[in-house]
This record gives sequence, structure tokens and C-alpha cells, in this order.
Amino acid sequence: MARNIGPSCRLCRREGVKLFLKGARCQTDKCSVSRRDFAPGQHGLIRKKESNYGTQLREKQKVKRIYGLLEKQFRHYFRIASRAKGVTGITLLQLLERRLDNIVFRMNLANSRSEARQIVQHGLVYVNGRRLDIPSYTAKVGDEIAVKGKAPMMKRLKETNETLKDRLIPKWLGFDPKTLTCKIAQMPTKDDVGFPIKEQLIVELYSK
Ligand code: SF4
Repeated sequence: MARNIGPSCRLCRREGVKLFLKGARCQTDKCSVSRRDFAPGQHGLIRKKESNYGTQLREKQKVKRIYGLLEKQFRHYFRIASRAKGVTGITLLQLLERRLDNIVFRMNLANSRSEARQIVQHGLVYVNGRRLDIPSYTAKVGDEIAVKGKAPMMKRLKETNETLKDRLIPKWLGFDPKTLTCKIAQMPTKDDVGFPIKEQLIVELYSK
């Protein structure tokens, strides 16, 4: 599946906020947003007044980048959300949160979503007892998610989970730290996203 392979820190600087795309480095003073708090590129230092459209666009880009998606994939999620029952913006966030790579990240088995995507692609993740190497798989309530691999890999995952113990694991995952498994207990809420997102702006942008 296509993904953005350009420099991650540039994306954060463009949005003007830390998007935590690089795991451990993001917590250090090496973070580019802390060191160079202006947009990348030749005209990065020029501050322009943002239009309504600009604000909506930036919010959409921010969310797209947090989840490591390209425009086509993101629009696909929006289309599904807009056809579903319920509030479009919230459904969109729920779809993004329920991606398999995001779940592995939220289980604290990876430092970043891109690392979580690799874990899935390497066939270490099992859903309801079956190996699944599709990062975009949308988990459902009741799905049981486990990681299986050779002893060194399991040791590494356990260590990562230990290192990240301060990062809150959302309740909707029904995570069991002893077995490194989870059983999706409920749908995620907006508060579970763990990042301030104005999803209404994205809905307005795509509804034009
Ligand atoms: Fe973003 Fe992390 Fe790079 Fe900081 S270190 S700019 S949060 S990816």
C-alpha cells in the first residue's frame, strides 16, 4: 500500500504541531518543531493570515498525517463515514482509530504508527486466531487481536510495551498487558483519539 516516505518532521513543521510520527525522538529536544518553529521551505518564515479554507485544509492534512494516510485513502474513509448512520466526523475518527496498525500502536507495542504498520505487514498480528497482514483492516467490536512471533521478537514487543507504560491505553481496546492481547470492547469515542482534532472542519472541507 502506498504511503508517505518523505521526512516526517517536515510534516509536523508544516502543521505547526507535534504529530509524534517518530516515536521516542519526538519526546526529546531533538524534535524539529521545538527547534525550528516555522513551516519548512523557502517561504516558511512568512506568516500569512489563514483563510477559512486554509484552516479546514490544515486540519484535514494534520489528521491524514497522524494516521500516515495518503489523500485517496483518507477520502475513502470520509466517503464511508458520510454514508454511514451517525455523525460523519465522529464516524471518520472511529474508522481511523480502528485501523489494525493504529490498534497495534495504541496497544503500546510500537513507538510510532509507522513501526506498528511494519509489525502488521511482517505477519506478527493475529485477528480472531488468523494471521492478518493488512494494516488498513478495520477492527470490529468483539475482535480478538494478538501478536505472535519468535521469542526474540516477542521479547522486543514486551520491552516496548514496558517502555511505553506511561502512554495511556484506551479502554475500548480491552487490552491485557500480561498476554499482549486485546478484545475490542466498544467503539472508540472522540476522547479516545488522544489528540485535539476538529473533525467538523474536515467534514466542511469535503462537503464543498
Ligand atoms: Fe514531529 Fe516527532 Fe519530528 Fe518532532 S521529532 S517534528 S514530533 S516527527
